[in-house]
Amino acid sequence: MAEMIFSGAARRTTGSLHLFRHQGKTLCLECGLFQGRREEARQLNLHLPPEARDIDAVVVSHAHIDHTGRLPLLVKAGYRGPIYCTPATLDLCRIMLPDSAHIQEEDADFWNRKRAQNGDRIEPLYTAQDARAVEPLLRPMECGTPREVLPGVTVTLLEAGHILGSTMVLLEYRQNAQPRRLLFSGDVGRFDQPILRDPVEPPPQADYLLTECTYADRRHDDIAGMQERLCRIIQQTVQAGGKVIIPAFSVGRTQSVVYFLEQLFRQGRLKPLPVYVDSPLSAQATEVFARHPECYDAQATDFWRSQGELLSDGRFIHYITDVADSKALNGRPESCVILSASGMCESGRILHHLKNNIEDERNTVVVVGFMAQHTLGRRIVERREELKIYGRAYRLLAKVEVLNGFSAHADAAEFRRLYAPIAPKLRGAFVVHGEDRQPIAMQELLDSLGCHKSQTPQAGQHVTLD
Ligand SMILES: [Zn+2]
Repeated sequence: MAEMIFSGAARRTTGSLHLFRHQGKTLCLECGLFQGRREEARQLNLHLPPEARDIDAVVVSHAHIDHTGRLPLLVKAGYRGPIYCTPATLDLCRIMLPDSAHIQEEDADFWNRKRAQNGDRIEPLYTAQDARAVEPLLRPMECGTPREVLPGVTVTLLEAGHILGSTMVLLEYRQNAQPRRLLFSGDVGRFDQPILRDPVEPPPQADYLLTECTYADRRHDDIAGMQERLCRIIQQTVQAGGKVIIPAFSVGRTQSVVYFLEQLFRQGRLKPLPVYVDSPLSAQATEVFARHPECYDAQATDFWRSQGELLSDGRFIHYITDVADSKALNGRPESCVILSASGMCESGRILHHLKNNIEDERNTVVVVGFMAQHTLGRRIVERREELKIYGRAYRLLAKVEVLNGFSAHADAAEFRRLYAPIAPKLRGAFVVHGEDRQPIAMQELLDSLGCHKSQTPQAGQHVTLD
């Protein structure tokens, strides 16, 4: 008998963790961190589901922390089995898990300083050492090559087009001697994203679909139009004698923007100007991109073969890791582009670049990512007159441009395109990784495509697969 147990990312977008049980063995799909409001997330992250004791193997679809960030906790709790993922995901985990540990340590410090007088101290969720203990368990697995991960259960990883190394996960097993297939979508990416190959099309016909629904009722802007707009914004800012400041996530968004800029320079569509990528994690992530040309789409492969490099030409793109070099950027009078993290402007070096540049009307802040409520990034999108940075108020006089087409998640049209060929023959579908109206939108979408047996499971729910 096969069974699914739903735990994380059930009726929410973070903390992905789904268990698949077959003949007494347990496969864990994802082991992600809950994110969001600090206290609530901490409580959710403190305890793994009780069934976690029985896990025999783990598969992670991609390196985002909401899909991998509880691996250090699983290992801390005694897990010593294999963790399967693509080689690119493995390399990204090696930089992203220690970075997540660093954030946990900073969070605990912040809490302990705030509560010092009460005497209640907390330990970080996990430390850099815990994060490093995951590494020896990571097992690289190529896309498209099936592998038996439990007795009688085979896994095949398939391109998802979401971030470097991201995959869907196909499980094949037998139920009463009948072959069965369960397709887990991971996070579904987009068609025509820069650098990355498209999601596998059509996906393999499965009996069961376990799908994310982050943007099941949205329509994103075209990606192709983003490069043109970015080009125009930079030209106008340079003409005014200003600088372009781009807050961007270190893994994925930064590389997409750099790749677009490189293309614009090389094709002569934009007069080259210095581009500074000011974030140690971005520099490390870019090295991972360079080591994994097997993940590039045809256009990026051509570009890489003809230029020898994809994301650093050695002339205009400068990666900055040193703090002194980062500070020195303030003194440069010439027009330039500065990309820096964190993506939502909550911490990191981007704060310095914002405070030094937003009071100059010649400059432009370009928003290329989602900005959650209550973040500085969101207040910039709302074009508030005054912004508080490090406790001081600054006037927002720089222009603000929002480019909505950079999302790494499929929208409704892309889900339709992917699931239309397989939906009519599904025996059932489980909708996870979405909030508010999104799971309903995905159930409606599947229903309209001919799959009338979908459900949105709750955390803790067990479902038998017949
Ligand atoms: Zn993701």
